[in-house]
Amino acid sequence: MTVQENYEKIMLEIEETCKIVGRDPKSIKLIAVTKYVSTSRAIEAIRVGIKHIGENRSEGLKSKRDAIKADVSWHFIGSLQTRKVKEILDQVDYIHSLDRLSLAEEIQKRASSCIKCFVQVNTSGEKTKQGLAIEEVDGFLNSIKDFDNLQVIGLMTMAPYTNDEDIIRNSFKELRLLRDLITNKNYKNAPCTFLSMGMSNDYKIAIEEGATHIRIGSLLVGEEI
Ligand SMILES: *Cc1c(COP(=O)(O)O)cnc(C)c1O
Repeated sequence: MTVQENYEKIMLEIEETCKIVGRDPKSIKLIAVTKYVSTSRAIEAIRVGIKHIGENRSEGLKSKRDAIKADVSWHFIGSLQTRKVKEILDQVDYIHSLDRLSLAEEIQKRASSCIKCFVQVNTSGEKTKQGLAIEEVDGFLNSIKDFDNLQVIGLMTMAPYTNDEDIIRNSFKELRLLRDLITNKNYKNAPCTFLSMGMSNDYKIAIEEGATHIRIGSLLVGEEI
């Protein structure tokens, strides 16, 4: 399958899923995760209509950014080491993996303009997964509430790797409920309206549960490398 065929199929699925749950397909941003593929594959995705690119390593981000001149948004979706913050800050439009105070402090200290972030939440409780526990998120936001160089625009999660749809759905639902709770707290640097959730295997469930940003790699651009 070409990127174009994959893209058209996914866009159709997004539309159909939205129709079922009464959502506007325009409320969903499709992020092409290009971490497995070359720059030329990423360019192919942009050519067929992709406006958002996701990378999980600073090296991959930088090499693609240097080569791609198109007007796209860049999303950092991987676990972020504090010492890497400085080098990615002027390369990214969004960070999806804010998960600790030391990272927030580094962003606050180094950023020259306000950085849009998602707080990563470990909704499954799996030890191998990054992210704050659900119960920790409000305390975390409270501790960074005066950080004016970052804005928490939403929450991000990864569902557990399983075929059990109920378990996946529950992860996404937990994130949505947490989002609603945080929104009501009116933190001035955390409007927290968006939900970054859903990957190749579970994006339809994520859309049903309110995802606004879906991050799709293998199903869209394949796995070349
Ligand atoms: C790799 C990755 C994705 C995309 O995974 P696919 O299953 O290939 O769609 C999405 N989000 C994060 C955080 C990832 O690391």
